[in-house]
Amino acid sequence: MPVTHIKNYIGGKLLDPVSGNWIPNYEPATGNVYSEVPDSGEQDVANAVDAAEVALETWSRAPVDERVDVLHRLADLIDQNREELVAIESRDNGKPENLARMIDIPRCSKNIRFFANLAMGMASESHTMPDAINYTLRQPVGIVTCISPWNLPLYLFTWKIAPALAAGNCVIGKPSEVTPMSAFRFSELCIEAGMPDGVMNIVHGSGAVTGNALLEEPRIAAVSFTGSTQTGKHIASVVSPQFKKLSLELGGKNPNLVFADCNYEPMMETTLKSSFANQGQICLCGSRILVEQSIYDQFRDDLVQRASQIKVGDPQAADSVLGAVVSQPHHQKILDCIELARSEGGNVLCGGAAATVGGRCQNGWFIEPTVIEGLPNDCQTNQQEIFGPVVTLQPFDSDHHALELANATRYGLSATVWTQDVSRANWLADRLQCGVVWVNCWLIRDLRTPFGGFKQSGVGREGGLEAMRFFTETKNVCIKYL
Ligand code: NDP
Repeated sequence: MPVTHIKNYIGGKLLDPVSGNWIPNYEPATGNVYSEVPDSGEQDVANAVDAAEVALETWSRAPVDERVDVLHRLADLIDQNREELVAIESRDNGKPENLARMIDIPRCSKNIRFFANLAMGMASESHTMPDAINYTLRQPVGIVTCISPWNLPLYLFTWKIAPALAAGNCVIGKPSEVTPMSAFRFSELCIEAGMPDGVMNIVHGSGAVTGNALLEEPRIAAVSFTGSTQTGKHIASVVSPQFKKLSLELGGKNPNLVFADCNYEPMMETTLKSSFANQGQICLCGSRILVEQSIYDQFRDDLVQRASQIKVGDPQAADSVLGAVVSQPHHQKILDCIELARSEGGNVLCGGAAATVGGRCQNGWFIEPTVIEGLPNDCQTNQQEIFGPVVTLQPFDSDHHALELANATRYGLSATVWTQDVSRANWLADRLQCGVVWVNCWLIRDLRTPFGGFKQSGVGREGGLEAMRFFTETKNVCIKYL
């Protein structure tokens, strides 16, 4: 079967890379190459920035409702093409179609509508003095780049570019080379929506080449990045000396605190999701499960029994709960992490190996949901992000002990607390070192709320007004009355 050539989206046109080189793109469920990604370099990036420079003056000064109309048309087109985008996202990433249908694709149009509506309501401050008035202008930063990861491909891509565009910037987006297909289809939808040429550009390619070219391009004024802490560190080292604005949403090793007084059944149902949804490849998954000693044995036995029954299968099948992990190297990395856990003395209670899925998926990259116990909190398994369907269990014997374990990592993205004691919940929410705390729930997201991490989970916040502030520069104007 002929492979599809994905194109860059530059200046309103779908283009091959200048080099004429391509990178193979795999379908994780089968292990087959099914498309090729442009291997873009400095020249492609420069061409995209040239196009953005031409577009910027008009777009940044357009009446806000003109920008908003384009974004609403784009959101409508995403909804109209929902089933096609579901199939694309599932095939490219390995996630079950059901998950893409319920979570990923609906969220893309929601992201765009949300920031379009927010832009309509944006206002700025004024500060009066006896003899003068100050007012604050919020102006677009200019040309910005949005670099996104492979785990929630179009969901996270739109989460970044929507506020950037709504605020009046021109964007050069770079999706992960591992999951480029939905961004390619998105570029076609941008054209159909009437996005002015050069306002939205997408340059495909590897992080090492295309990504670095974006970081080095002097005309790009801001970098919004979501990905691993390791890459974030590199990005900061390149971007900070250039004094570009920088937002980093990075990795996590999130604790899930389960107290004996919790509402047990909803806790168990949600914990299965927070452990294994999207094959454990969500930055917000709770990978360290901390359980109060008095219910530890019951919790462990129930979790293991239910995790063992989760259906891992063809992402296209309606009954598959878990699909494939995103790539062969990532598959191997997860299996290596499980081996490391064994060598550190961990007891693998279920899973612990590649899952075999027959038929068209016999060469795909699947992993069994894995639960491990018996490891101390300071071992590598409990400190390094695995980003797969792997969780560890640790008992605790007091609120202070739970808090100490929860905070004892270099990460600080999110935490989940399961208790019916409101005082305990508030005490923990106050002291947990992370940007998001969920009490008796997980993954409930109001797009108006700030989102981001403490410590090595990130710098800055996304979401609501935080994102609009990142993508604007403030300027104070002071006028004397007489
Ligand atoms: P990576 O850091 O490997 O890559 C993220 C993006 O950065 C990709 O587009 C990648 O391109 C690009 N990139 C890689 N190297 C460079 C570079 N030198 N310069 C510029 N860009 C570069 O992360 P993953 O894609 O593996 O995503 C998983 C990680 O993302 C996990 O750590 C997860 O926790 C984190 N994440 C954080 C979230 C948050 O909100 N805090 C949300 C979701 C995920 P390419 O893939 O083409 O190499």
